Amino acid sequence: MVAELDTSKRVRELAVMLRQAVIEEDGSIPAGDHVERLIAERVIALAHDLGVAQRTVLDRYMTPDQIRIWARTLVARQHEAEHLANDAPPVEVDQRDGLLVLAAFGVCGVLAMRNADRHQHVDPMVVIKDALDSTVHVSAPLYQANGQPVRIGGVTLVVGRKVISMTVQALSNGWWDCTCSAAHRADGGCALQDRLEHELAVLGGWINRSEHLPR
Ligand SMILES: [Zn+2]
Repeated sequence: MVAELDTSKRVRELAVMLRQAVIEEDGSIPAGDHVERLIAERVIALAHDLGVAQRTVLDRYMTPDQIRIWARTLVARQHEAEHLANDAPPVEVDQRDGLLVLAAFGVCGVLAMRNADRHQHVDPMVVIKDALDSTVHVSAPLYQANGQPVRIGGVTLVVGRKVISMTVQALSNGWWDCTCSAAHRADGGCALQDRLEHELAVLGGWINRSEHLPR
């Protein structure tokens, strides 16, 4: 259904509007069909929530004003992420924990691949890309440190935490299929998520289980 909407003329027009609005708000947006998919997913989610046809959402709930408000929200989130990256104090990680963190990125990537079609709440493609980037950015200093602890900070730290926390959130909310064979606890957790949360703590991050990602 997403693929069908992706190619519709209206979605392409809205994508042009959203790109333009983001630039006007002093933000940036990556090239490619990412924006088309963003719009298609929002249309599907809104149609579902409001109980109306996707066509109706496209006609009535995607006005230039609404696109501008959406762009403002996207840019605010971008700036917040940059702010976080500048503010996050670096963490010191020893060799053993560093290797566990690398393994955690691998686990997150595998889980994202397994759930490649379930991108409504947490986009598996984003997790896969960030997991690969994080693996490169953490493994290089670990290798160069020659057994000594390394400091991880800035964007590497923020993105690394995001990879693990997005994955745990997707699993605990049941948005993604988990690879553990056990039944999940009442809070949605399981042993696999506990391990990921431990590795997240190594990077100075944590999961707020009462907080769900905005749709
Ligand atoms: Zn599980």
